[in-house]
Amino acid sequence: MKLYLASGNAHKVGEFQALAAAADFPGIEILSARAAGGMPPVEEDTGTFIGNARKKAQALRRIVPAEAWVLADDSGVCVDELGGAPGVESAYFAGPQGDAAANLHKLVATMRGIPDARRGAQFVCVLVLIGPDGTEHVFEGRCLGRLRHEPAGEAGFGYDPIFTPDGHALSYAELGDAVKNRISHRARAFAALVAWLRR
Ligand code: IMP
Repeated sequence: MKLYLASGNAHKVGEFQALAAAADFPGIEILSARAAGGMPPVEEDTGTFIGNARKKAQALRRIVPAEAWVLADDSGVCVDELGGAPGVESAYFAGPQGDAAANLHKLVATMRGIPDARRGAQFVCVLVLIGPDGTEHVFEGRCLGRLRHEPAGEAGFGYDPIFTPDGHALSYAELGDAVKNRISHRARAFAALVAWLRR
């Protein structure tokens, strides 16, 4: 099953390739949008994870081989104290240029001085899968946790250094890919997709 990923984010592609390799479903081959000629530009302006994921999936679908499947991920971190922000705007929290380091820095600064009891957050991942017949399927995964006061760890991407998942003492970025890919929002959404494929 060839599955093209509607993302230009190499970290996301790597995570999906690891998730597919470990999945209890043989033969899922994750291909990057680059392998289909490059991810077409998409304005992520719907205000929802599912709306943005659907736009990305439909844009890529126009350029992949007819027998291929397309998968889009829209994701972000939702902070309780900020009413769910940055949420669907996570990639552009610090501005339209989408600078990951600036986004992380802004979240650290915004949460400066907020006590531990008010640092709850969750990562959300919405997947839209489109089959060769054009049918859409939606899957969601969440990972609850809390925000650290200072970033820690080198692995992963985006807000990984500031997020500690519940049940762990270390950030996503300190836990590293192997642990993150067992517990993350993306892993849970992908597990739901695999469960659907198995049915
Ligand atoms: P998207 O690519 O438009 O879905 O934007 C997702 C944004 O959410 C990324 O740019 C990151 O800022 C953030 N994000 C989503 N998933 C993760 C993750 O697994 N770790 C860290 N940041 C993430």
